[in-house]
Amino acid sequence: MNIPVYLDCSATTPVEPSVAAVAAKFTEKDYGNAASPVHDYGLFARTAADHARKLVGQPAGAGADSVVFTSGATESNNLAILGLAEEGTRTGRRHIITTAIEHKSVLEPAAAMERFGFRVDHLPAGADGRFDVNRLAELLRPDTLLVSTMHVNNETGIIQPLKETAEVLAGHEAYWHVDSAQGYGKEFTMLTDGRIDMISVSGHKIYAPKGIGALIMRRRDGRFPPLMPLMYGGGQEQGLRPGTLPVQLIAAFGEAAKLAMRDGEARRQKCIEYRRAVLSVLDELGAQQNGDERFCMPHTVNFSLKGIKAETAVRALKSVIAVSGTSACTSHNPMPSYVLGAMGLSAERVECSLRFSWCHMTPDADWERVKDIIRKLRSGI
Ligand code: PMP
Repeated sequence: MNIPVYLDCSATTPVEPSVAAVAAKFTEKDYGNAASPVHDYGLFARTAADHARKLVGQPAGAGADSVVFTSGATESNNLAILGLAEEGTRTGRRHIITTAIEHKSVLEPAAAMERFGFRVDHLPAGADGRFDVNRLAELLRPDTLLVSTMHVNNETGIIQPLKETAEVLAGHEAYWHVDSAQGYGKEFTMLTDGRIDMISVSGHKIYAPKGIGALIMRRRDGRFPPLMPLMYGGGQEQGLRPGTLPVQLIAAFGEAAKLAMRDGEARRQKCIEYRRAVLSVLDELGAQQNGDERFCMPHTVNFSLKGIKAETAVRALKSVIAVSGTSACTSHNPMPSYVLGAMGLSAERVECSLRFSWCHMTPDADWERVKDIIRKLRSGI
């Protein structure tokens, strides 16, 4: 039986072989504790973690001391948002702005802040898939503590207006957090903006294993954002994230970040080529693309097939391509995509929406079979 081609790289990417080799080395051989550099085992581990820290900062134009390792972007988002609760309470700045199209790992901690007495406003999004940056200018207040916006949307692949956001935020005191789980290591022009205070990143979206990520922080007037930790313990990661460092994951993440810097352009070109094939198939099938193609990452497409429910299509295509009907993180939830809903798409179009996402390692799919299956679904055979 043929193995279906994996087209769900926005949910998680395959692990690069050289990244897996690094993880194996620090699992099987150099397994010391980075906090015990009194012998060679610990020293190798410490050196590897320090090196990885430098590499992980690079795609964001940040130094090693800016990187706080976490378990992934979910934890980084929680730390960036909940971590400001004390500062907001102390200073009386109790206003937060985020967007309607954020990942749940931003929306849920923001909702928790609301329960702690903060006010949270959500920027609306347009049919192009981008949040409304003009509205940001209207919503900003002197007591706005935090603005949290994503870099690239996970469901649509649409790149968000971060340059414009930086312009609106220039001269305002609010901390700016960017959830870059889907952009880091792939889209290089925006994260280096000096106005961004905190960036959430994730290893398993850039060909590293799951369970590792980072919050990358930037100093303003010589100070990092005044976060309080969400856990207490041995003081690791500047006291912000205690616990023994998972060196095998950290070293692998470092390797993945290095490859992202080195191979970014070549990977991009491969994805653009793959996209041509995908778009021509979708065109033949009369699919409607969701979000404005001009702002879309080259490795993702979100589209609707009129009259064919996503779950029916996902099931019918399963033996040929592995795709997702909505973001994997919410797929246990039968509710239709709130992201596409916020973009103003009709309920029917949302119900019939699919996401294909690929990478530089994705082999060609049997597109003739894909077309055949969709046509058969359409004609009700
Ligand atoms: N934010 C976005 C935009 C994401 O796509 C994801 C992963 N689906 C996350 C946050 C959570 O990342 P992680 O899986 O590393 O916790």
